[in-house]
Amino acid sequence: MAEEKLTRTAVVTGGSRGIGRAVCVALAKQGCRVVVNYCHGEAAAAQTVELCRQQGVDAVAVQGDVSTAEGCKKLFDAAMEAYGRVDILVNNAGITRDNLLLRMTEADFDAVLNANLKGAFLCCKEAARRMVRQRYGRIINLSSVVALRGNPGQANYAASKAGLIGLTKSLARELASRNVTVNAVAPGFIETDMTAALPEAVRTAMTGDIPLQRPGTPEDVANAVAFFAAEQSGYLTGQVLCADGGMAM
Ligand code: NAP
Repeated sequence: MAEEKLTRTAVVTGGSRGIGRAVCVALAKQGCRVVVNYCHGEAAAAQTVELCRQQGVDAVAVQGDVSTAEGCKKLFDAAMEAYGRVDILVNNAGITRDNLLLRMTEADFDAVLNANLKGAFLCCKEAARRMVRQRYGRIINLSSVVALRGNPGQANYAASKAGLIGLTKSLARELASRNVTVNAVAPGFIETDMTAALPEAVRTAMTGDIPLQRPGTPEDVANAVAFFAAEQSGYLTGQVLCADGGMAM
């Protein structure tokens, strides 16, 4: 008799919009049940849940601020209550507070590091505890090409995204013996709310720096995340894949 195929459960932080929403839909297309985390966007998260359900899988929205330990605990408790396991974690939630170093406040630095790096650390802890026990897991962290190249005005953001690469490689080594893989996707310039406010001159300059001559879509990044999450990708760990139209090579 054929073995029954396990339905995997994915937790996606910041799944209410942008890249996170596209990741939720891409994982739903792989047949995963999706836990859509959000911080403020309740209505947007409900729309993401609906898009996942249209792929024929179950999905739930869970509010939780991942920059706090309580927010992360609440998220994973809700995921366990809904589906009883967590197989895939995508640390996608992220913010920017851009400014040149001499004008960047300590509060701006802390806010970005807390949301982008500490949030991922806290969610990895919650997820790894369960994944190690079940001897299976996929963790994918959203870094950025600015982690590799730096960017004026983004010292806090670039530091958080470079920190995510160190976190990814360290956890890849720690968790490999338990069949838990940890990888990072580094997007380039992607059309989302995060980049919508950039002045036209900056957008033109950034696009000019992309060999494929266009900004990326959230789906371009989601495809790279889905690649690491796929059942067939179990021999990949500690990798950083740039989804950037060739920008960072
Ligand atoms: P976005 O459109 O600004 O969306 C950010 C998402 O993160 C929202 O769903 C937001 O939720 C959530 N979020 C923020 N802080 C949170 C917190 N403390 N707890 C839980 N959720 C939180 O951003 P995006 O462009 O899709 O970017 C997604 C990821 O890709 C980020 O990590 C970003 O740094 C990275 N990235 C983006 C680009 C780009 O060009 N867009 C390039 C490189 C890397 P609510 O709306 O519910 O508050």
